[in-house]
Amino acid sequence: MKVSIIGAGNVGAATAYALIMRGVARKTVLIDIDKKRAKAEALDILHATPFAYANKIKAGEYEDMKGSDVVIITAGANQKPGETRLDLLEKNTLIFKSIVSNIVKYAPNCIILVATNPVDVMTRVTAELSDFPPERVIGSGTILDTARFRTLLSYHLGISAKSVHSYVLGEHGDSEVLAWSSSDAAGIPIFDYAKTQSKEITKEIKSDIDDNVRNAAYKIIEGKGSTYYGIGGGLTRICQAISSNEYAILTVSTLHKDINGIKDVYLSLPTIIGKRGVHNVIQPNLNKQEIEELINSAKVLSEAQNQALKFI
Ligand code: NAD
Repeated sequence: MKVSIIGAGNVGAATAYALIMRGVARKTVLIDIDKKRAKAEALDILHATPFAYANKIKAGEYEDMKGSDVVIITAGANQKPGETRLDLLEKNTLIFKSIVSNIVKYAPNCIILVATNPVDVMTRVTAELSDFPPERVIGSGTILDTARFRTLLSYHLGISAKSVHSYVLGEHGDSEVLAWSSSDAAGIPIFDYAKTQSKEITKEIKSDIDDNVRNAAYKIIEGKGSTYYGIGGGLTRICQAISSNEYAILTVSTLHKDINGIKDVYLSLPTIIGKRGVHNVIQPNLNKQEIEELINSAKVLSEAQNQALKFI
């Protein structure tokens, strides 16, 4: 498949590297207003291809997006000291106006995959600006939070993260919902499974995992300024599901017409992803508290998304 990445910063470069090393993209194009950076990243990654697959990667212009199956947007401004979240939203919406109009011009049949934060809001903005059908506008949403949740559970339980089935739903951000009640391993609800292995998930362990999922990004940013490998892996996983028409269930941000009366909101639920993009959304079994938390997350996101639309 051909993948173009707009924004060759940390996330864009980590994604390109993962796409190449896993052999997901045959052709990758890096586009950035900082052309020197895009060229340097493409050249550096190109030198890894003899150790991976005979894939092509180059830095390019918008017109090089022609024929892309997926266009990933990781471009965006960073929050400056004294700047509010809303200021950043306005800035990024303006940046997206020009980016998305170029995607519509040069890659009208692609699937757009958004990673720029706040990702659920920027995905809604992209949908409005592109007027693409909803199945072709996807946000990375909580794919990374779900990976963090599974990893931490797998460490506690001493099994592979791939054998832990659990999801983080709603916003990629503070109001996200860890769906403990629908988590399982070997078809056994996760709390029961843990007991069978004498690895009980006590209140303290549950609260520790919750905190480490929710605050992982803050901790990483404190140590090295930004997070990029996890999301690079997540974006590559979504591309792989599209490329091989996998019908994989992933938590990504997509359009929800009605969540308890909240209309047209982008958030994450388990979603079937294949060649067409979004094939279907699954409603997981949640307990009463999780349902309330999900509705709250939808409210938070709906407000932010409606605010952002005013900048279009
Ligand atoms: P970065 O600053 O390293 O890279 C951003 C790049 O965007 C820069 O190279 C910049 O030159 C480029 N850019 C800015 N305006 C542009 C434009 N108009 N056209 C083309 N390129 C443009 O930042 P990063 O660490 O790579 O993060 C990128 C985004 O990804 C941020 O919004 C960050 O919050 C987000 N992110 C999302 C997740 C997630 O789970 N969704 C995880 C980590 C980071």
